[in-house]
Amino acid sequence: MQRRNFIQQSSLTVIGLGVFGPLLSNNKKAGTVLSVNSKRIESRIFELAKFGVDEKGRNYRVAYTKGDIEGRAWFMDLMKKAGLDPTIDAAGNIIGKRKGKNPSLKPIGFGSHIDMVPEGGNYDGTLGSISALEIIEVLNENNIVTEHPLEVIIFGNEEGGTIGSKAMVGEITNDGLKQKSQSGLTMAEGIKAIGGNPDNIQSCIRKKGDFHAWVELHIEQGGILEREKIQIGVVEGIVGIVHWEVTVEGFANHAGATPMNMRQDALLAASKFIIAVNEVVNSVKGTQVGTVGKIAVQPGAYNVIPGKVILGLEIRDLSAQKIEMLFREIEKRAAAISADTKTKISFERQPNESKPALTDKKLQQTINASAKALGFTTKFMQSGAGHDSQHIASIAPAAMIFIPSIDGISHSPKEFSTATDMANGANLLLQTILKLDKE
Ligand SMILES: [Zn+2]
Repeated sequence: MQRRNFIQQSSLTVIGLGVFGPLLSNNKKAGTVLSVNSKRIESRIFELAKFGVDEKGRNYRVAYTKGDIEGRAWFMDLMKKAGLDPTIDAAGNIIGKRKGKNPSLKPIGFGSHIDMVPEGGNYDGTLGSISALEIIEVLNENNIVTEHPLEVIIFGNEEGGTIGSKAMVGEITNDGLKQKSQSGLTMAEGIKAIGGNPDNIQSCIRKKGDFHAWVELHIEQGGILEREKIQIGVVEGIVGIVHWEVTVEGFANHAGATPMNMRQDALLAASKFIIAVNEVVNSVKGTQVGTVGKIAVQPGAYNVIPGKVILGLEIRDLSAQKIEMLFREIEKRAAAISADTKTKISFERQPNESKPALTDKKLQQTINASAKALGFTTKFMQSGAGHDSQHIASIAPAAMIFIPSIDGISHSPKEFSTATDMANGANLLLQTILKLDKE
């Protein structure tokens, strides 16, 4: 115990004077590591949470609703006070810029989102947003001007389909804009409600090379970091997601008068199929996940053998090839089940799939090295949830930093991350940005 403390302390001393020394040339407290204000981050998390509560007392800062609009106004006010002069682009993304010493350099972008799912939590998205602002304030307080311009981006409607970031990389379609959002408004109406301009949506597009780099700090939303007692997750990529509607057709018949050996029970076949999906996904090494998360049985009565079942199948992985490979295996198993149960099983691939997005390898290493220098334990991991960064990865070297989610809970009012973990993540984001700035 003592020995461990000693090693940790002495390595931190070396870091303080050595690795981060040159970064602090403008800092009056040279020799100490520049640090975020943990209390300020935590109190702002709680303050923003107030805007997410509706009349019924639910957490409801859903994109384009009153809570979202008020939360955004509060956030923009803080950005103004920090000298960021925020603007809203055509997709409703909030953008705050801070000048660098060298205007010919491309900006380093960082941020996240502040909208939430219905009855969501107070850390998903808000941590990365509030930490981005915190970094600007720490730089202000220490009179540090970076070489690169900095850009804080708060994306609009992340939870309703990463709409703001999708638009920023030119991937939003007219049909996408006509889609209903969770708020009840269409995406186009919602974008208007938060100050965007859907009629001129193309004006928000950023091209390849427009950013020097993009970094998003986020809660893990799973329980791996907490379980393994690791402080920082270095995200290798954001998984691709593919959905299939699976229809099992049997024959609906009298449940009393039809003998067991004369049945074409669609639900029995579907049950075998669900188990087969689990077996196939577990049969290969890796972090892939596969789920049957939806089931509808017809006609649905005690006394009728189920004639038809519709299932929702989802597979996620960092590799598109692996998703296809697993699906082919599942198809094979389905054919065998179908023959065995005298049913027909068919698949309809859904149009809303998202491709896997890999984060930048060099950026991962920069984050990992900065984390180690701060004395944090790290783990390279994938993100099983979708994020705005997956779109930005198509136009810029992008990366994500994860911190632990207590009990792995997210998209719930029970979502929680400790003030220490949040400060760790924000400090790492700060050091990563300073490092990227020296490139
Ligand atoms: Zn999020």
